[in-house]
Amino acid sequence: MINKQEFKTRMVEQSPQERIKNFNEVALGYTEEEAINEALRCLECKHQPCINGCPVNVEIPQFIKKIKEGDFLEAYKIVRNTNTLPAICGRVCPQESQCEAKCVKGIKGEPVAIGRLERFVADYGLDHLSEIEKDNIKLSGKKVAIVGGGPAGLTCADELAKKGHEVTIFEALHKLGGVLSYGIPEFRLPKSLVKIEIDNLMELPVEVKLNNVVGKTIYIDELFEDGFDAVFIGSGAGLPRFLNIPGENLLGVYSANEFLTRINLMKAYDPSENHTPISIGKKAIVVGGGNVAMDAARCAIRLGAEAVTIVYRRSDKEMPARIEEIHHAKEEGIKFEFLTNPVSILGNENGEVIGVRCIRMELGEADSSGRRSPQIILNSEFEIETDTVIIAVGNTPNPLIKKTTPDIETMKWGGIVVEENTGATSKKGVFAGGDTVTGAATVILAMGAGKKAANAIDEYLKTI
Ligand SMILES: Cc1cc2nc3c(=O)[nH]c(=O)nc-3n(C[C@H](O)[C@H](O)[C@H](O)COP(=O)(O)OP(=O)(O)OC[C@H]3O[C@@H](n4cnc5c(N)ncnc54)[C@H](O)[C@@H]3O)c2cc1C
Ligand code: SF4
Repeated sequence: MINKQEFKTRMVEQSPQERIKNFNEVALGYTEEEAINEALRCLECKHQPCINGCPVNVEIPQFIKKIKEGDFLEAYKIVRNTNTLPAICGRVCPQESQCEAKCVKGIKGEPVAIGRLERFVADYGLDHLSEIEKDNIKLSGKKVAIVGGGPAGLTCADELAKKGHEVTIFEALHKLGGVLSYGIPEFRLPKSLVKIEIDNLMELPVEVKLNNVVGKTIYIDELFEDGFDAVFIGSGAGLPRFLNIPGENLLGVYSANEFLTRINLMKAYDPSENHTPISIGKKAIVVGGGNVAMDAARCAIRLGAEAVTIVYRRSDKEMPARIEEIHHAKEEGIKFEFLTNPVSILGNENGEVIGVRCIRMELGEADSSGRRSPQIILNSEFEIETDTVIIAVGNTPNPLIKKTTPDIETMKWGGIVVEENTGATSKKGVFAGGDTVTGAATVILAMGAGKKAANAIDEYLKTI
């Protein structure tokens, strides 16, 4: 049976008026009936173009078929075969530019809501974990160290542990998850769910060493001396870029990293239980146009700012944020100043922010990223009053590993150079993947890189 409905089955959400007063999840997921109804829209295409759109090649038509049949646990097992963190991906993947972009249903009407269905089966699977038989793993006797417990490191650890290798994750922070724990806010990705999904991985033979900064507490060369046979670096891109304009050191200016870490990892949004300070004032400006900017703006409004404005130097068409995030931000009353760039941040005699001086831009020729590059419009400066400025204009890898392991080749901007098909670096036995190689990208691309490197490490271990 096929459901000929042209549009995706709606997913219930908290209303904008309600949700700006809390940090609870915005989208509430499908019921079993809604999931089956949406699954019935899938045409079970023979050539399965949706699978090619997924960086980890989830067997999409196969798991959707199981939903149609009401066999949700089997659907979960199919997804979990290729995707280490499906409950997370179902919530934060940019499906509109990946699997759903390739869906045949999208030619006339909306594509099948693959992301929502993935979320549904993952939540179902996590609720029924006790019913899933665990594989018997035969240990290989080989040891692999993973640097960083974000999506790239976790996926690499999962894949290697499933192949029988002893894996140890060295994580700098006191919690695993990387950006999933410290960056993406609770209202998009509940931290309790991140914990369940990670705990599920940790049932494999994986050791975790938290509060361990590789390059400070231990060097990569020492890992080999300690008996590790290979190393995977998935240390992300956690070093914020700044605008380098006057006033960036005033009180009330945050990098989005610091702002979001205080809120998510250190739970500043719940002062009754936590003592993490955060000050927002009545007006806030967020500079940038990606997911990080949307998250910072949506956090600012939930913390009580009366007016939040996103300042972006290109037009709405070039914004790299997910369409759903932009839509949600607009619904929540966040204003946008497009084709606008800050030139200085203004302060009072106490060193506190009071405003931002901006200039209008227009779009010129396309640059190396393929996007039209913004050009200044002369004599178009103007000021916006504000109490807080949050800068979300990108991140680069932390230079620590580069500094302490000079035989790992890096690019000028800090990214680790790897062999494309394997993730192998210039140093024997060391592999890398995720944001530390590509610069800030996506969860699923980081996971894809972790998986690719795990396969290559497995092959490498057979040769030593
Ligand atoms: C606010 C925000 C919102 C985002 N929203 C989305 C979204 O909606 N969808 C999407 O697909 N992507 C999103 N992204 C991007 C996505 O989260 C990243 O691309 C992804 O997390 C990269 O994974 P990773 O494992 O490479 O790095 P990370 O997630 O950064 O993890 C790296 C880990 O390594 C640790 N580490 C760093 N250095 C060391 C060291 N020397 N020793 C030990 N440990 C170390 C870090 O503490 C961290 O835990 C967002 C990013 C941010 C910041
Ligand atoms: S392309 Fe769309 S309709 Fe076809 S199998 Fe994939 S999800 Fe189903």
